[in-house]
Order: sequence, then structure tokens, then C-alpha cells
Amino acid sequence: MRSNEQILGDSLREAGLTAFGFLSAASLREACSGLDRASFDRCGIGESGGAAAAALAYGEGPAGLPPWAAGYPGPLARIGRFARANWYAELGHRLELAAASARAAVVAAQPPAPEGHGPGKATEWRRFVNSRLPEKRLALAAGLGAIGRNCLLLLPRPGSAIVLGILLVPPSFRLEPAGEPSLGSPGEPELCADCADCGLCVAACPTGALRGDGSLDRELCLQHWSSVPGPLPPAVEAAWGDRLYGCDACQEACPRFRPEALASCSRGQLGPGLPAAFLAGASDETLHRCLKGSALGMGWISLDALRRNARHLTASRLRPTIV
Ligand code: SF4
Ligand code: SF4
Repeated sequence: MRSNEQILGDSLREAGLTAFGFLSAASLREACSGLDRASFDRCGIGESGGAAAAALAYGEGPAGLPPWAAGYPGPLARIGRFARANWYAELGHRLELAAASARAAVVAAQPPAPEGHGPGKATEWRRFVNSRLPEKRLALAAGLGAIGRNCLLLLPRPGSAIVLGILLVPPSFRLEPAGEPSLGSPGEPELCADCADCGLCVAACPTGALRGDGSLDRELCLQHWSSVPGPLPPAVEAAWGDRLYGCDACQEACPRFRPEALASCSRGQLGPGLPAAFLAGASDETLHRCLKGSALGMGWISLDALRRNARHLTASRLRPTIV
């Protein structure tokens, strides 16, 4: 009889996940112990039989503009690689396929599975992508990669060019991975060995947000501010440049950052940039319509922040040069 880890592993592999690892129910709860009670309960952490943490490598995304954005004059405001197509939706879809396939394999098993190996209800297989769950911590606990000085999870091949997701399994489908790695002390991430003699990401960060020990001053991070409305801190504003959403500076400097050449994603395609002048003046309704289904269309991304970011580029282009 195949173990639960083998069944789910085969399904995750068939669904095209780049890497994955498993957590027992106890490790899952421990890794999520910092979550607020409401989120812990709403996500079903307490009832779950464990989890799979999975990574999907992303590529460069489409090279051109989406049809609705073609024809507008002026400069393009830049989008980080991870958001040029909706890799999050792609990952969510693949986790859904993997869950359905693993469940079907258990249902079809003969003789019927013993206790701890049951399929559970379809609704008990829950997937989370870009969610409130501590995805990076869960991935580390599942043995996926290591933390880089850039504060991102690094996998052997794509480095940090990945999106992460979590699949919780039913209580009847217990995961008990052999040799489960220790969680370590929260707040003291073990750095990737390749970072020992390197600090290229720290040097490349335009605001000094990276502390060098694998942690980050979020208030100085352009990536953080790209979705948060309000006035930008002076150091962040000075370094903003032509960004619309995301910041790739620390990743582009990293020798381990290798977007997957063969990766493709047809969901929510935006490309490397969008017309700044159009976005700067667009209404909520227009932005909702244009960005729907894309990584920039997620509910928690402030439209005011996107307009502010686009205006930053248009204003800087129009500003007269002071000599
Ligand atoms: S995303 Fe940008 S601002 Fe944030 S740490 Fe990396 S380089 Fe610095
Ligand atoms: S740039 Fe160097 S120090 Fe930074 S994450 Fe990459 S390998 Fe580590």
C-alpha cells in the first residue's frame, strides 16, 4: 500500500509543482502558532491531518502589453516578474488538481484504506495561496530550501523565482513525514549556505531594507509599499523609480535567482509594464475591470496605491530638470 505521502507526492508531481514537502499535523500547528485565533480557526488548522507546502517556479511572463493597455502613450510603469502573469492562480489551480487526484486515488484504493488513510470530504482538502498562513515558515518546516539574505526562500534551481502555496489535508488523511526537519527558533532563520560569502542582494537594495541576516525592515521595502496606500516614506519615495507593483532589485542581484525559462502561465497576463498615464487617472471601476484576474487585481492591493505609483512615474517624467 502506498503511503499518504507517496499518494499526495505523486499527485503534486503530476500537477507540475516545482518542489514540495510535507508537515505533520503537529508541525503544522506549531508553525501556525503565531496566527491570530480567528485565522487559525477559519483556515481549519486545528482539524487538519497535516499539510503539503508547494512551490511553483515562475518565468519571465509575457513580453508585451495586454490588449486593453495597447495604444496608450507615455512610459510604462514596471511590474515585478512574479506578478507579470497570475502565477498565484496557476499554483492554486495546480494544488486543486493535486488534491482531487490524491483524493480520487484513495477512494479507488482496494481494499478500503485503514484509519488515517481515508479520503475525507472534498471540502477538507483546502488550498491557500498568497494567504494569511505563514507560507515561508511552513515551507521551511517542510524542508523546502533555505532563507537567503534577501529574506526570501531559495530553492536549489530557481532560487527565489517561486510562488508558494499550502494544501491542508483532511484529518482522515494523516501525514507523518519521516525525518521531519525541526522548525528552529522563530526569528532566527538559518541562512542559505550560498549567502555566507555573498551580500549582493543587500548591496543592491536601493533603500537599505535588508538587514543582512535574512530579515527585512518592511517600512523601507518598496515591494511592501507597492500595494499600501498613503504617502511614501522619503527614502522609499526617493528610490521609487518607474515601479508600479513589486521590486526585483534584490532578486536580480542574486546569482541564485533563475526564472524558469520553460514556465508559462496564461492566467492574468499583464507583461513587464503598464501605461503609467492611463493608470494614474483611471477610476476604480476601470482598474477593477482591467486588472480582474491578474496578480494586481487581488482585493488587498490598494487601487489608490497603484494610482500613486503610476503618478510617481508621470510626475517624474514631467518634472523639469533642475541644474
Ligand atoms: S524588494 Fe526591493 S526594497 Fe525590498 S528588500 Fe528587495 S530590493 Fe530592497
Ligand atoms: S544575493 Fe547572495 S546573499 Fe543575497 S540571497 Fe542571493 S546568494 Fe544569498
